[in-house]
Amino acid sequence: MCQSCTNTLLDNLIRHGHLIEMGVDGLYGRSGQFEDVVSRFDDLITRWGGGDGPEVMRFPPAMNRVHFEKSGYLKGFPHLAGTVHSFAGNERDHAELLDNVANGKDWTGWQKPTDVVLTPAACYVLYPVVAKRGALSEKGGLFDLQSYCFRHEPSKEPTRMQLFRMREYVRFGTPAQGTDFRALWLERGQKMMAELGVPIDVDVANDPFFGRAGRMLANNQRDQQLKFELLIPINDGAGPTACLSFNYHQDHFGSTWGIRTPDGEIAHTACVGFGMERVALALFKHHGMDPEKWPKAVRKALWG
Ligand code: AMP
Ligand code: ZN
Repeated sequence: MCQSCTNTLLDNLIRHGHLIEMGVDGLYGRSGQFEDVVSRFDDLITRWGGGDGPEVMRFPPAMNRVHFEKSGYLKGFPHLAGTVHSFAGNERDHAELLDNVANGKDWTGWQKPTDVVLTPAACYVLYPVVAKRGALSEKGGLFDLQSYCFRHEPSKEPTRMQLFRMREYVRFGTPAQGTDFRALWLERGQKMMAELGVPIDVDVANDPFFGRAGRMLANNQRDQQLKFELLIPINDGAGPTACLSFNYHQDHFGSTWGIRTPDGEIAHTACVGFGMERVALALFKHHGMDPEKWPKAVRKALWG
């Protein structure tokens, strides 16, 4: 590692140009090398999961506001949601708006919600799409997604970004199809990450539900072991960071969206999520700021 690598991980990433400051915590540009690592990791995921024959779909990083409202995201995570607003005034309002901007006053009063909100997790966009197709087949459904996601959680920790990419495989079907899928990926995810030569640990987890009612939801999620995370130590002086998550939603999304199995039962769903930036950051943290100097085995896993 080079001489200047004495500050925090964030400082080092910025100094080496891998993250480019934009003046807001958690909002960064990425270097070409950083992006190359992200795409090689994307390919590694496909090597491990593509053989299952998922249907590949890609969506822009925003979703239908009505679908978002119906998804229930606001019940659990109102504090993380990002909505898109746009100017909806007349010419006089416009003049006042410009005046307020020029004088450093609030100008957002004329902003009105649009039909889109920012995608909070890659799979949220998918459920209404699958619901619209009608009942599942005997094989259920398996989808491959990747999207930029927004969460309003500004932080100095480079692993906690406001806009980051999440790759996901999402499974639809019977309870057994859901739990088998998650068990498969809990195993597979660890083998896949072992190729990257970073320290890993797997533990039961919960989502950061809002408020007092949220604490109950979080406890329930842990008690029922609905969420597991693959953790890697990345940030200086902090606990390890969740880089992959393995979620079993039971019939939560199936009943919200009316998705059914061929027997007419409510479909169960599960997903595995890969934090693309977090895994790239784990690699820079453990193998250094120059990917060309990373261990041979790690380079082989990523670049072949
Ligand atoms: P979650 O839906 O919270 O389980 O997130 C899925 C995956 O996205 C996690 O396992 C992380 O790797 C990644 N992730 C979640 N939040 C962030 C964030 N604020 N910044 C970067 N990556 C994140
Ligand atoms: Zn998901």
